[in-house]
Amino acid sequence: MATKNNGFATNCIHAGEITDQFGAPHTPLYDTTTFRFSSTADMLNVIEGRNSGYFYTRYGTNPSVMSVEAKLASLERAEGALAFASGMAAISATLLAHGEHGVICLGEVYGGTWELMSRQLPALNRHTSFMAVNDLHGLERLLAKQSSLIYLETPSNPLLEIADISQICSLAHRYGAKVAIDSTFATPVNQQPLSLGADIVIHSATKYLGGHSDLTGGVVAAADNMLEPMRIWRKNLGQILAPDSAHLLARSLATLEVRVQRQNATALHLATALQKHPLVKQVYYPGLESHCGHEIAKRQMRGFGGMISLTIDGEAGAATRMIDSLQLFSIAASLGGVESLISQPALTSHRDLSAEMRESRGITDNSIRLSIGLETPEDLEHDLMQALAKI
Ligand SMILES: *Cc1c(COP(=O)(O)O)cnc(C)c1O
Repeated sequence: MATKNNGFATNCIHAGEITDQFGAPHTPLYDTTTFRFSSTADMLNVIEGRNSGYFYTRYGTNPSVMSVEAKLASLERAEGALAFASGMAAISATLLAHGEHGVICLGEVYGGTWELMSRQLPALNRHTSFMAVNDLHGLERLLAKQSSLIYLETPSNPLLEIADISQICSLAHRYGAKVAIDSTFATPVNQQPLSLGADIVIHSATKYLGGHSDLTGGVVAAADNMLEPMRIWRKNLGQILAPDSAHLLARSLATLEVRVQRQNATALHLATALQKHPLVKQVYYPGLESHCGHEIAKRQMRGFGGMISLTIDGEAGAATRMIDSLQLFSIAASLGGVESLISQPALTSHRDLSAEMRESRGITDNSIRLSIGLETPEDLEHDLMQALAKI
């Protein structure tokens, strides 16, 4: 069984596991919506908390779901974790449960998160202030006026900007504010925000945690008193992760460390090679010394992740020509799977912004985002180089 003293990879495999009477070496799938009791008294003992037990899957009391939650909590060194039906379910429950005094959003965030904060939550009288990630003076002025929830992503999408987690958290805590971090791009292999002072860590499990582009899910890890209000939102908004997805997620987490370490190594190798190419204007990868967040990333991350962005030096359409010439990389949204994916932020995640707004954020029509998979690194390098030659 997993204990606090075990290493990360051991916990990926064993934390939270439930053994059954048949001796299965992993937690079985409990694909059931409800659980029966031998008497009314037995049922009341569970409902009223005198005995432990399972009651109704949407409430979160399902062995497949609770087992993967225990695993996720151990990987983030958290008191507990909640599993959600998607990353956006986890994010919306966090903002609804902890954003009652307003939210301060630092830097770039995922498109769905931005839409929720800027368009939907205001309709519920929940307001978000958007600020640059490095504007600590502005942040302090705002915190002096209101004790809000601070929300940020690091590394961010698509340019892999790095926020200094411990600096932001110590400033926030001086003003009694809490900090929630979307750590999807980093994974707990590379970064554990709670150990750096954050109050809440969020993942889209659809990405690296699931890792095979075959499940949609989300996670929040935090202290139990932070999780409790989110558990109620999850229950009544019906945001629970389905048991079969929870089972699949636990299976995927068993290999999380080896997958991400390999993705770190391949991405660093490819970022270094791309940086030397004459048709590549700039490579954004936190593992490169040229990246503006490199020093902070070295302090707070154990690896730099599997995401790379770059801009092509060429006329309009150059990036599209390169992408359409690739043979191994697939043109697709999402990231973090075993297969390498490629996208153009200006045409996908950031298409709703005006060209000027994109430009001001460093995203051009020739920007490309790569999600590095687990294929043979030389094959990926060869594919990128042959496609660059077709520009
Ligand atoms: C994909 C993603 C989300 C949303 O996750 P879903 O599982 O698609 O709901 C949130 N944050 C980041 C950083 C993401 O990449």
